[in-house]
Amino acid sequence: MSERPDQSGGEGRIELQSPRRAARVRIDRQALRHNLARVREAAPNSRVIAAVKADAYGHGLVTVAETLDQADGFAVARLEEGIALREAGIDRPIVVLQGVDTAQELAAAVAHDLQLCIHQEHQLALLELSPPGRPLDLWIKIDTGMHRLGFAPERARAVFEALNGASFLRAAPRLMTHLACADERDGERTAEQVGLFDTAVAGLDAEQSIANSAGVLAWPETHRDWVRPGIMLYGGTPFINGNAAQDGLEPVMTLTAPLFAINHIRRGEAVGYGATWVCPEDMNVGVAAIGYGDGYPRHASNGAPALVNGQRSRVIGRVSMDMVTLDLRGIDARVGDEVVLWGKGLPIEEVAAAAGTISYELMCGVGSRVRARVEG
Ligand SMILES: *Cc1c(COP(=O)(O)O)cnc(C)c1O
Repeated sequence: MSERPDQSGGEGRIELQSPRRAARVRIDRQALRHNLARVREAAPNSRVIAAVKADAYGHGLVTVAETLDQADGFAVARLEEGIALREAGIDRPIVVLQGVDTAQELAAAVAHDLQLCIHQEHQLALLELSPPGRPLDLWIKIDTGMHRLGFAPERARAVFEALNGASFLRAAPRLMTHLACADERDGERTAEQVGLFDTAVAGLDAEQSIANSAGVLAWPETHRDWVRPGIMLYGGTPFINGNAAQDGLEPVMTLTAPLFAINHIRRGEAVGYGATWVCPEDMNVGVAAIGYGDGYPRHASNGAPALVNGQRSRVIGRVSMDMVTLDLRGIDARVGDEVVLWGKGLPIEEVAAAAGTISYELMCGVGSRVRARVEG
């Protein structure tokens, strides 16, 4: 999904897809603001960098950044995402988590006043090419156990000292690390990572950041100067078997498609590709125009929950590219009724569990055919 206006009912516009069929994603800006307030409540002494990478986890990069105007900054994965925010007029601090690799990229980052993470030796030499006259904010990323990006803890002090006071810096470089297992509320690795970080940076006079959403909610010792929540802003739980509502979060994204056919199928007949579901009795089967071509996961076949007209149903048969079939036994439903695939009334985590994935992937995967309606 990207910044696509909802064109239905727009004057003089041609409705390309029947509104009876169109899959839509509703983005609730009020819920987004509420979830930011939850971050502040959980980490009251930290400033908040909202993670908006990957099109704000599929919610629309600019929509989300404009809505979260109370955030202290934004984090993106890639340079282009940061430039897109600047071009949309966002003037808060923006951190590019993956940093840059070339002199041109560095110049573009400086020109757009983007903060950079550095995590590899070659980026140190690159910084010497920083254009004069425009100071840069830097984050030194330390690898305390994720083993994806970052300097080894024993290198941290030397990297800091090499950079601190450099003419191209606005202030002392900041120090950060990323948690690998904070989604386990009682795991031991988070405490180990925090211990390694604290040892690596002991005595360095610099601002720090450790926490993702799980850190914000479950690990107060990770809060530090800046927290970097993502999924909790969108109303998803970061925890394995977690419950977002219990953590006071509200879903921002609701994915819907209306029922556009209801068929009466006889007992013993099969539904969908591969005939993987056989009707145990004569029954009504609903069809909605959303499938894996829209980002609804094929692995949700046979069993994922859905709401039909507010009543709990489930997917039967295989999810196909453009359609999904639903069990309407015991459900009062008519053609045109709304099917909620996830969101308000149906936690995305339940669908993710049924599809063998996590909410993050479902949110990011909502396809470009699905039209967005921004509310609140
Ligand atoms: C994506 C990301 C976050 C946010 O993680 P959530 O689990 O969504 O809260 C924080 N820090 C870094 C470095 C990230 O890449």
